[in-house]
Amino acid sequence: MFSKVLIANRGEIALRILRACKELGIQTVAVHSTADADAMHVRLADESVCIGPPSARDSYLHIPALVAACEITGAEAVHPGYGFLSENARFADILQAHGIAFVGPSPEHIRLMGDKIEAKRTAVSLGIPVVPGSDGGIETDAEAHRVADEIGYPVLVKAAAGGGGRGMKVARTPAELEFALANARAEAQSAFGDASVYLEKYLATPRHIEIQVLGDGQGNAIHLGERDCSLQRRHQKVWEEARSPALNDDARAEIGETVAAAMRKMRYSGAGTIEFLYENGAFYFIEMNTRLQVEHPVTEMITGIDIVHEQIRVASGSTLSLTQDDVQFDGHAIECRINAEDPRTFMPSPGRISHFHTPGGLGVRVDSAVYQGYLIPPYYDSLIGKLIVHGRNRVECLMRLRRCLDEFVVDGINTTIPLFRQLVDHPDIADGSYDIHWLEAYLAEST
Ligand code: ADP
Repeated sequence: MFSKVLIANRGEIALRILRACKELGIQTVAVHSTADADAMHVRLADESVCIGPPSARDSYLHIPALVAACEITGAEAVHPGYGFLSENARFADILQAHGIAFVGPSPEHIRLMGDKIEAKRTAVSLGIPVVPGSDGGIETDAEAHRVADEIGYPVLVKAAAGGGGRGMKVARTPAELEFALANARAEAQSAFGDASVYLEKYLATPRHIEIQVLGDGQGNAIHLGERDCSLQRRHQKVWEEARSPALNDDARAEIGETVAAAMRKMRYSGAGTIEFLYENGAFYFIEMNTRLQVEHPVTEMITGIDIVHEQIRVASGSTLSLTQDDVQFDGHAIECRINAEDPRTFMPSPGRISHFHTPGGLGVRVDSAVYQGYLIPPYYDSLIGKLIVHGRNRVECLMRLRRCLDEFVVDGINTTIPLFRQLVDHPDIADGSYDIHWLEAYLAEST
């Protein structure tokens, strides 16, 4: 096991990882930009290193500063969290070259899954069902038209290097396809420096269902069931639950085993998430994330398994400490992502938190790194915390969530808490009958 780990992240996830390290008896090193000198992850870590100015490019994304921080402090491993360098194969390569462990999969697997075209090809070869679409990238408009005619409209143009819903455009007709291609290519080029795109059938009413996996790179891999992340705004998850209201035990076991078998075949190491769209009883792979996800706590709440503990153990060379039979699903969990944003316009709302009170009680978890008096800097994403609630079943979970949302106080800034107060009382949410377009339609109607 490692004796010292550097956490290459900030905010709630830095604190989350720090907690896991402390439980495992591992010393922690926090890194921070000058804007984050007062951050909670810095206060709670055993050591901290300032790695640069506020701009993420010059701090949290600045690889030489992170390697230097490891050298100075003697950290043996880096946990990248999510976002920033978590899916950067070059970073994993560089750490390896310096004899520092990366808490994540091999650089080859990061690279493979980071290219969505390659990822889809790999999925097919591993027996995972995919969304019908182009067989690889689309080079010319003529090729796009041919594929679109074949799979039928509407179609979705997607960026090979995509992420965060960027570089994704729907086309409902051949005329729209020309625009969609041009827009997606331009957006992909400016966001990722790579204009390659591919085509997929646009599914009309799917749910987003993803499977959490853990592998040890030594041929063992298990699944921890699914998360339903269908409530999205601009392709970004807002509310996540486990288990999915749409799956029964048989469907869960079947897709879970398909994915775990694929991970065993790949000799995948670490935590990963295989994302699917689910429509009319069928699963369609869309991508794999080779890192810890924002929404991992809902899985932890229903399995009792600490995913970060397992990531760290596996990265230090241990085999998985769990078998599939050790994974039992208990009850229901829901996570609400609390953003410092206006709940109607979603405009960011940085500033000072004048009053902060978090809910508590049985089955309640708040993952947040903010505190009363904390000044939210304007440079980073607007997630300030996650409210995760567990109940013996979905009805109890919703009752508890409603109570927690009433109790939650964040004054001085705008947050998305009022939106969740509306959602928790909506009949479609109560009966679990929503697809990936539901939230956008609800927001359009209610404004
Ligand atoms: P990103 O990497 O940018 O997050 P994903 O491929 O994971 O992109 O897709 C993000 C979201 O976009 C999905 O959760 C879903 O809401 C929507 N989406 C992706 N592919 C399709 C599709 N073929 N049909 C309909 N919606 C899709």
